[in-house]
Amino acid sequence: MRKTLYLKFVLAYFIFGVFSFTIVTTFVPSLTREHLIREKAENIYAEATLIANTYAAGLYTSETDLETVKSHLDFLSVYLDSTIRIINPSGRLVLESNTPINVEEEVIIQGFDPTSTGNSYYMVNDFFGSFSSDMLSVFAPITSSYMVKGYVVIHCSMDKIQQSCNSLMNISYITLVILFLLSLIILIFFTEIVYVPLRKITYATEQYASGNMHYEFQVESDDEIGYLAACLNYMASEIAGAEDDQKKFVANVSHDFRSPLTSIRGYLEAMLDGTIPEEMHEKYIQIVLNETERLTKLTNSLLTLNNLNTKGMLLDRTDFNINQIIRNTATSFEGICRKKTIAIELILTGDEMYVNADIDKIQQVLYNLIDNAIKFSHNDSVIRVETSLKKNKLFVSVKDNGIGIPKDDLKMIWDRFYKSDLSRGKDKKGTGLGLSIVKEIINCHGEHINVISTEGVGSEFIFSLSLSADNEEED
Ligand code: ADP
Repeated sequence: MRKTLYLKFVLAYFIFGVFSFTIVTTFVPSLTREHLIREKAENIYAEATLIANTYAAGLYTSETDLETVKSHLDFLSVYLDSTIRIINPSGRLVLESNTPINVEEEVIIQGFDPTSTGNSYYMVNDFFGSFSSDMLSVFAPITSSYMVKGYVVIHCSMDKIQQSCNSLMNISYITLVILFLLSLIILIFFTEIVYVPLRKITYATEQYASGNMHYEFQVESDDEIGYLAACLNYMASEIAGAEDDQKKFVANVSHDFRSPLTSIRGYLEAMLDGTIPEEMHEKYIQIVLNETERLTKLTNSLLTLNNLNTKGMLLDRTDFNINQIIRNTATSFEGICRKKTIAIELILTGDEMYVNADIDKIQQVLYNLIDNAIKFSHNDSVIRVETSLKKNKLFVSVKDNGIGIPKDDLKMIWDRFYKSDLSRGKDKKGTGLGLSIVKEIINCHGEHINVISTEGVGSEFIFSLSLSADNEEED
């Protein structure tokens, strides 16, 4: 493709050159010759008319004699570089410049017919066979008493005209060659502006097609081609990023599946071969159960994330009372809260507060946030779930007085499989997927979630929800 595009352009360039030369060498010479003949004929015609109205007319009215007229004609013929004749309508040659007057011998131009040229006052030929080569002959009638008495005919050699024509043509050819060479600039521009960037882009797409998404290239222009190159670069970097994420994701999933499986296998083998005595079996079966629970949790989280990604915005939005959902979710943590002597304090706006969202997904958000708050809280502490109304939005906050999140980790907590070093001791079962699910759900709703946290003091997660229309009516 690359070579042919360039070849096509060069071919088009040469076709343009050949056509230009053909036109210039065929039409232009005949047009130039025509033009030069007409111009010369016009000039000579003025002279011929002058002679016909002055000296020649005097000849027919016998005011001037032959000798005088001839001497004038001789002089003018040198000046005009031509042969001047006076011819009777019958074709008898009365006078010819630079030829002695011969009264005895009558010279007749056979077939002389001034009307043979139609409307034109000049002709280009051998003038009824009286010249051996082509001449430009211009004639002007000599009239007296409204009668045509004869004609003044001026003959010019065509050699001179042909010479002028040739010199003009030479100028045209030189101009054409210069223009043709100058138009090479277009070829250079095409190469620099279109061909070279296009080759870079083609090479880059070949690289991308072969899987090298990290290939980078530069096209330094701010036109459409530059924009195309920039878009392509951007697209490749995005795909490369997505590929990297995918690889990281698979590596994390494999790792998180492998470690519980390894420990399950280890404990079971140890129980079978007697390394773990029978009286200890119950304890270790409990550990195995915990590990399988972790695996189930991990699988469920992965499925949720996958559904969120594939379904995208497909939410089952309804109007529901968020206060009720918060209460229900908090109740489901009663058992664990009792164990850790943690209190969940609810500060809810209004008895009922209707929001428009996907009820199951928002319940999952609350569940994940409260679950984290409990996991990372110290015993005997309080977790506060609070709602507040601001600018037609309901803000839900889940606040704990737990271990907090280090400043450097704050950005990463939303990433899949991210667990801060600080949390590892407190939460061995965590998958690092909870907050990515929360963020994905909130984003799907077109809402926002934020975190404020201080290491060693506590964390607060706040997300927004759209109020339902029913709610506004009630207000
Ligand atoms: P996990 O399922 O492991 O809890 P998450 O995605 O929910 O994963 O959380 C990611 C990480 O963010 C946790 O491992 C923890 O380090 C940090 N984190 C989340 N919530 C809190 C919190 N309330 N207090 C302190 N750290 C938290």
